[in-house]
Amino acid sequence: MKPEEQKKNLDEFFYHLDRSVFIEGENKRYAGYDEALSIGYEQTISMPSLVHYMTSKLQLDKRHRVLEIGTGSGYQTAFLAEFGGKVFTVERIKELSWKAVERLMNMGYKNIQFKIGDGSEGWPEFAPYDRIMVTAAAGSIPEILVDQLANDGRMLVPIGPKGLQDLILITKDSKGRVEEKNLGDVTFVELKGEYGWKS
Ligand code: SAM
Repeated sequence: MKPEEQKKNLDEFFYHLDRSVFIEGENKRYAGYDEALSIGYEQTISMPSLVHYMTSKLQLDKRHRVLEIGTGSGYQTAFLAEFGGKVFTVERIKELSWKAVERLMNMGYKNIQFKIGDGSEGWPEFAPYDRIMVTAAAGSIPEILVDQLANDGRMLVPIGPKGLQDLILITKDSKGRVEEKNLGDVTFVELKGEYGWKS
């Protein structure tokens, strides 16, 4: 598919996806705001424009196996399932994962496999992945995730301390050579776990 067509499809999906489906309670009414919002358990649903941007930077297609770390509300997962092939998504908070499963099943996605656990370790059983999206911030690039990235792969991961991080794009070429590029400032909650921040 041509890049212009990909962009058009992503824009259309972005504008038609009702974000309020992924939010409960008081915050539902702010679903249309371009802001991260609380989803309970001290976690957030990401800012829509950032989800759009990060999805576009992954350059997804239907042949891709995609790993997502930090299912959260499932909002970003919907984009990965819409434009990627098989999606593997890991969330450490079981209540968030259960709700995301329900929402995404109700939306009819059949290409998502969910796991409750420590995603800082990735999901080695199904590696390698063509695309990896990490939606929580690590202190340094988790090498264990880079190892699970396929050749010709792309991975996005926020790196830095609480409050402000750099969004890092990691690419692997056909020979497995790794490059990093800083795409700019972002703010995500912390990636907890063995290869993230300790709880
Ligand atoms: N993209 C999600 C959305 O749009 O709703 C938002 C993700 S939220 C910013 C980050 C998520 O990462 C939280 O739900 C948090 O519980 C989860 N998380 C943090 N550390 C994790 C880990 N080690 N493994 C799996 N999930 C983790």
